[in-house]
Amino acid sequence: MRAATIVIDLAALRHNLSEVRRRVGRSKIVAVVKADAYGHRAVLCLPALAEVDRLAVASIEEALALRVAGAKQPILLLEGVFEAEELPLCARHDFEIVVHEPGQIEMLARARLKRRLTAWLKVDSGMGRLGFRPEAARAAWRRLADCPAVSPHSIRLMSHFARADEPTETETRHQLMRFKALDLPGERSLANSAGVIFWPESHADWVRPGIMLYGVSPAANRYGAEEGLKPVMTLTTRLIAVKDVEPGEPVGYGGNWRAEAARRIGIAAIGYADGYPRHAPSGTAVLVAGKQAKLAGRVSMDMIAIELGAGSEAKVGDPVVLWGDGLPVEVVARAAGTIAYELLCRVSARVHVCLGSSEDVWDVEQARG
Ligand SMILES: *Cc1c(COP(=O)(O)O)cnc(C)c1O
Repeated sequence: MRAATIVIDLAALRHNLSEVRRRVGRSKIVAVVKADAYGHRAVLCLPALAEVDRLAVASIEEALALRVAGAKQPILLLEGVFEAEELPLCARHDFEIVVHEPGQIEMLARARLKRRLTAWLKVDSGMGRLGFRPEAARAAWRRLADCPAVSPHSIRLMSHFARADEPTETETRHQLMRFKALDLPGERSLANSAGVIFWPESHADWVRPGIMLYGVSPAANRYGAEEGLKPVMTLTTRLIAVKDVEPGEPVGYGGNWRAEAARRIGIAAIGYADGYPRHAPSGTAVLVAGKQAKLAGRVSMDMIAIELGAGSEAKVGDPVVLWGDGLPVEVVARAAGTIAYELLCRVSARVHVCLGSSEDVWDVEQARG
């Protein structure tokens, strides 16, 4: 079996959820598990999220998969419905909907459902993406409250931050003020992970953390561990070859990495088809049998080459960690010019999944000798 595997640590997920709770006090928690829980396989994560008040996903397809898998709580569709045909399913399966666009209110005005839906009216307080402008929010609220398919007493108000990951950003203050100034009834929700961590005044009635649940800091220049979080996903594989190269010998496509002196190189079974970023440059950190080593040369579809340290005793079969426990995914994301969110949710379907901690995997490796 090819060793490329993500190890999903539910104890770390529970810990991160408790870090959310510790920060938000009595605010209710919407755990954001869109894009298959940011690549962590949402169904596997459900047991660690049993206590949260809501789950949130990007579409009804994602919500139905969670319901079939046994998710008990109401599930929020963050972009609402895309077609009117979805509304009866929402009523049947206890899905709540974001309403961000007049066409969605038209669908609700025409719908005749067996149960009224809970709607989260989205206001654009400055993100410039989805939602009604603050000055249009009252009219939208009224039309929504008149829809027979909507329960008027449970209309909630939500908005989304554009720059809350920059702790000194004044635009976030403006967003907070515009949202606060809305003179409309209903429970309110504003905070993503960055709001939870950096903007306590944004916590309101409901918080919507995503990335911090998975152990990653939402801020570009910080690490999850600095926020007291633990990585949930560890991407691991094994060495499938070890060899010595002479000074000046090239390694990999394009021959753009050459050994400065005699070097030992390990080849690991992971590549861009697994979701390891092709743009990670030579020198990007990897762990081989727990020791720091460096990516050497271009990332291939199924393999990478690793420059092992001087005197390395690494051998075929040794475990390699690409990110996670011992190597923050933020480090790799920065090296590759992207964000941890993207690396996590792009791990591909051919990568095996196992529950446990990466220590368990290490134990298995050692037991195999
Ligand atoms: C994805 C998303 C979140 C979670 O954001 P994080 O930065 O991962 O915490 C919250 N709210 C909405 C509307 C989202 O789309």
